[in-house]
Amino acid sequence: MVFRTARNCCLTILLMALTAGCSNTKPVSASAEPSPVDAVTPAATPAAVANPAGPPMHIDPTRAWQYLKEILSFGPRWDGSSGQQKLGEYLHRKLKGDAVEDDVFTAQTPAGPIKMRNIIAKFPGSKDGIIVLGSHIDTNYPLRKTSFVGANDGGSSTALLLAIADQLRGKKLEGYSVWLAFFDGEESIPSTTPGDQRWSDPDALYGSRHLAQKWQQDGTSKKIKAPLLADMIGDKDLDILRDTSSAAWVEDLIGQAAANLGYQSYFFQEVTGMGGDDHIPFAKIGVPVADLIDFTYGYNNAFHHTTEDTIDKLSPKSLQITGDVILETIRLINGRKE
Ligand SMILES: [Zn+2]
Repeated sequence: MVFRTARNCCLTILLMALTAGCSNTKPVSASAEPSPVDAVTPAATPAAVANPAGPPMHIDPTRAWQYLKEILSFGPRWDGSSGQQKLGEYLHRKLKGDAVEDDVFTAQTPAGPIKMRNIIAKFPGSKDGIIVLGSHIDTNYPLRKTSFVGANDGGSSTALLLAIADQLRGKKLEGYSVWLAFFDGEESIPSTTPGDQRWSDPDALYGSRHLAQKWQQDGTSKKIKAPLLADMIGDKDLDILRDTSSAAWVEDLIGQAAANLGYQSYFFQEVTGMGGDDHIPFAKIGVPVADLIDFTYGYNNAFHHTTEDTIDKLSPKSLQITGDVILETIRLINGRKE
């Protein structure tokens, strides 16, 4: 994930400090720039807005953790790397037998044209409409010459989607179809000039922008009820923020889902706007979106976009909490009166 917007000047200062680069004594950092100011408001207690529909679903955290370890075994997975190629093959192996579609395209980046591939796994439901669950599969590009593996940023949410697929497979879902979107090219790809770590909208979110445009053109976007994006959700100290750039009613349902499961202390203690993540291209075409993201990864978010983003900072429990809340949110979206 990339950057957030905040009215809180401390947050802005924090992000500016992160962009200031690194010293020999600190982890290698390639953080994005903060964007202009946005709203920070007190966390609201979500009102009960829907009754869950369909049987409860839970992920298997042991399997999710195993998936994460397997993903990290491929090493750095930036676009163009052998690690990412291996990850693509791995995802296809894990989703073998499911309805899987590759969305291949060439992204024009400041570093030149780069071939990319979104992978979409489709699980059919009984109701007309689609819930999309998304994760980015690439790791930070400016850190490609370091040991950065993106355990949390890129790894955790990809593993989680595979664990969710295990719960969706082999049945006709009661409710909307669920599509898992593994987005390529989320991270910013600036020029190859050493030290160039700038973030700008056209230089990132390549996969989600491509897919949003494609789904808008072919009419799929009209059938999407809500994309739920997961990013950096494996932090042991889980604190998923309430995102002001997401649709409020979807955020309310996530809050309700967390409360239903007794997990509300892990959600919405912080409220801010995530300006640069894969949900934004869908918001721009009028699809209600929600970004489930923990942007307090280590003290002052110190592990984000550094070589410290390693599996020892994560826990299977955090994958379970996020996965189960996502599955409960799906039940609430299915139960919601339109
Ligand atoms: Zn990132």
